[in-house]
Amino acid sequence: MDHFLYRDGALCAEDVPLAEIAATVGSPFYVYSTATLLRHFQLFDEALDGTDHLICYAMKAASNQAILRTLAQAGAGMDVVSVGEYLRARAAGVPGVRIVFSGVGKTAEEIRVALVGGIRQFNVESEPEMEVINAIALELGKVAPITIRVNPDVDAKTHAKIATGKSENKFGIPIARASAVYAQAAALPGLEVVGIDVHIGSQLTDLAPFETAYRKVAELTERLRAEGHDIRRLDLGGGLGIPYTRSNEAPPLPMEYGALIKRTLGHLGCEIEIEPGRLIAGNAGLMVSKVIYVKSGEGRDFLILDAAMNDLIRPAMYDAHHDIVPVVEPEPGVEPQPYDIVGPVCESGDTFAKARMMPPLAAGDLVAFRSAGAYGAVMSSEYNSRPLIPEVLVHGDQFAVIRPRPSFDEMINRDTIPPWL
Ligand SMILES: *Cc1c(COP(=O)(O)O)cnc(C)c1O
Repeated sequence: MDHFLYRDGALCAEDVPLAEIAATVGSPFYVYSTATLLRHFQLFDEALDGTDHLICYAMKAASNQAILRTLAQAGAGMDVVSVGEYLRARAAGVPGVRIVFSGVGKTAEEIRVALVGGIRQFNVESEPEMEVINAIALELGKVAPITIRVNPDVDAKTHAKIATGKSENKFGIPIARASAVYAQAAALPGLEVVGIDVHIGSQLTDLAPFETAYRKVAELTERLRAEGHDIRRLDLGGGLGIPYTRSNEAPPLPMEYGALIKRTLGHLGCEIEIEPGRLIAGNAGLMVSKVIYVKSGEGRDFLILDAAMNDLIRPAMYDAHHDIVPVVEPEPGVEPQPYDIVGPVCESGDTFAKARMMPPLAAGDLVAFRSAGAYGAVMSSEYNSRPLIPEVLVHGDQFAVIRPRPSFDEMINRDTIPPWL
């Protein structure tokens, strides 16, 4: 459920017509709905009701300060994967005790900043990383709380680029080696082992892989406890998928996911952490773009938009589908026609959709890409010297630019000329 609906024929974000935002900020732009962000957060919170839990929003999905602050004020912790994200979360007002640090390649400097600033736990992904965290903790006179990310070798049945829980993936340590690695961690005085971490992939549309992974985590918890480790926290990662179309696609609901967690792990009495990213932000954001030209090709018409693959890479990178809807609601009975919907970048990959049925559109019309809130703005670039597009947050009948479009001077002046030129 989201808060992007037509009212009197005008697509709105909550109570604000998108056309009004476009008139103020220009196009293209990203727009997020506060009510939708909070609703998604609350769905997880309710799903884990009755268990000791913390929802650590995986902020790599959408990391604007205003989004982080909205969620943090609702009680969210954060899952960060770089020191940049750590500092962003702190700047948005998230205390270190509510930040977990994931990622396969944490550098010594990143570990140091988080240890000095305060951290709930590091989710350790390898033995060498464990040694480095230990050394830095000892040097700082601190003890670093850690979980170890185990790779349960389950097939998440998702797109290959976002599957992380198979043994061939670079993530975590093989679950079969867990006993040895936990013993090694326990022997390092700079570390305090607090739990187990697992994250098997993203955009999972079936609960079965979660169930397989969580059963393995339950078994491992009991085994590690028997081996003398005080396993009291389970970080179950993110990955719950979202509907990208309004047809019959229906991924599991947070409530069903929560029930699965309670069923597979509830008896262990552990504190539960989850790290949802996409489900919180994905359907809470749209990208709005304008038609520059309608071009007739051989047997097809192209809608050439002012947004491109640099603004939303998901179709080019993951073959992702985004519903694209006109900002002015079509009159009933209008016959849709197929369009190839493309951006202006000089790559054939700069294609958002092929033969997409749309009502007839003309230059100057606005369209909205649905489900663009996660892995949208954060993955954008300035390829082709196209400025990063602005982000806007709506709250009821108010809206605010939460990241302005840079000027061309700002973009150009980021480069510096060496003295010999
Ligand atoms: C990407 C990621 C997440 C979030 O995944 P979603 O599919 O966006 O929920 C959570 N945890 C880790 C470790 C990740 O890498």
